Amino acid sequence: MEANQQYLLEIHEKTNNHIEELRAYAEEHAVPIIDKLSLELVKQLIRIHQAKNILEIGTAIGYSSMQFASISDDISVTTIERDEDMIQQAKSNFEKFGYNKQIRLVEGNALEQYSNVDDQEYDIIFIDAAKAQSKKFFELYTPLLKKGGLVITDNVLYHGFVADIDVVRSRNVKQMVKKVQKFNAWLMTQENYQTNFVNMDDGLAISIKGE
Ligand code: SAH
Ligand code: MG
Repeated sequence: MEANQQYLLEIHEKTNNHIEELRAYAEEHAVPIIDKLSLELVKQLIRIHQAKNILEIGTAIGYSSMQFASISDDISVTTIERDEDMIQQAKSNFEKFGYNKQIRLVEGNALEQYSNVDDQEYDIIFIDAAKAQSKKFFELYTPLLKKGGLVITDNVLYHGFVADIDVVRSRNVKQMVKKVQKFNAWLMTQENYQTNFVNMDDGLAISIKGE
């Protein structure tokens, strides 16, 4: 691991809370939860923005949604997940860590759940599901984002492959990486959004919605 990253991880250790215990489980079971420094950046954006309503696409075991909700009791997270095994684990984690009141889990394919989450506007949308579909999620859900709100997309540099696709052997991974490249370029052309890419961990895009 790069020295700066190692150093920052160590210096951030005091930010570790009880939810952090799920990271070991996630690593062991190859559940791709958000990297630690990226998480701390997203949490800081939530604080700066004083976000109250957050929409997340891709719950997995509920790690990131609980981390977001842990910032303040008045934060509500709506999170969408389609995988039955992940849904069961997320439910049991929300129960175990006491987040049932703050987190609403919407079950099903996120390409089809608009009508189940359009009962409110959101301050932040966190896109972290199937990487090839980020553009579709962005187009579908940003009508629910407030003016001045943020879209944060995770894994926009996917394993370093987005910047160096020639090293990818697998045809499927190559297809997915091409879609991430297209999404990133497309994001930069969106006139109503100001987007900034962060070269940290697996890459984050932070887009601010205009008028
Ligand atoms: N946000 C989580 C990690 C999510 S991993 C965290 O950082 O803790 C990505 C998840 O998105 C997986 O659990 C996968 O099942 C889910 N997913 C992928 N495509 C989806 C879709 N179209 N609809 C709903 N969930 C999806
Ligand atoms: Mg991710």
